[in-house]
Amino acid sequence: MATASQAIAAGSYQTRVVIREHDELGDLAASLNAMASALEEAEQRRVHLIGDVAHEIRTPLATVRGYLEGLADGVVEPSPELFAQLHDETGRIQRLVDDLQELSRVESGRITLHTRPIAPMRLIDAAASRLASAFDEKNVRLSVERRGALPDVLADEDRTIQVLTNLLSNALRYTPGEGEVRLGAAREDQFIRFSVRDTGTGIPAEHLPRVFDRFYRVDPARSRAMGGSGIGLTIARSLVESQGGTISAESAGSDQGSLFGFTLPIAH
Ligand code: ADP
Repeated sequence: MATASQAIAAGSYQTRVVIREHDELGDLAASLNAMASALEEAEQRRVHLIGDVAHEIRTPLATVRGYLEGLADGVVEPSPELFAQLHDETGRIQRLVDDLQELSRVESGRITLHTRPIAPMRLIDAAASRLASAFDEKNVRLSVERRGALPDVLADEDRTIQVLTNLLSNALRYTPGEGEVRLGAAREDQFIRFSVRDTGTGIPAEHLPRVFDRFYRVDPARSRAMGGSGIGLTIARSLVESQGGTISAESAGSDQGSLFGFTLPIAH
């Protein structure tokens, strides 16, 4: 076990000890193996993250560089449209970096939550009014379902509005004009369930369990073209879970719309 723990400390996370007896030493060996597995998984996640980030930054960076080279060689004519496109591409990188920084803050627990009792409809109205003009612009109807009085939730106001705004902007992004998005809240035992239901593109069943994964996109080209960083839902899940709730996605399939819901505890 001493040899194994030294190997693990030196970075050989695939090292395991053979468990022979189910006594105290055997239990210790099992804990050592569990620790090695956890370290091995964390290392794999770290390696994947670096690969994903490099991949995400490469495309917009290649576009910007290509245009700049064209301009320098005189092959591409400078024009307001070209500069606008360059500006868009750098905006994409900026959003990605901002979202990554936010994700790292949320996942490492470096954000301080200011939770207090708050009326669920107040959160819903704040998110709805933030996005009202974007909905008008795309001609997607945004409605808020109001059912009887609800108890207060224990939540951080800004962070919860951030989650709702994120789900709402996704709903808007994936719902074509003439469609509809409905926002609501209802009591569920000791929780309030917030819901964002849209009549948009929907999500095929095989993709549903993965939409909260970092950089996971059902249709990568389409999502990137629409400016998505692919980590909005990962941040949303972290924010909900850090407030004691859960988040989930449902959809009956392609073009059947989607329903995103999350819970927050009722304040007592
Ligand atoms: P993105 O920035 O790409 O929107 P998100 O993490 O917010 O990243 O969402 C991950 C993926 O989940 C999206 O790329 C999209 O494929 C899918 N998705 C999220 N919300 C919806 C929705 N309301 N309707 C259909 N697909 C959605």
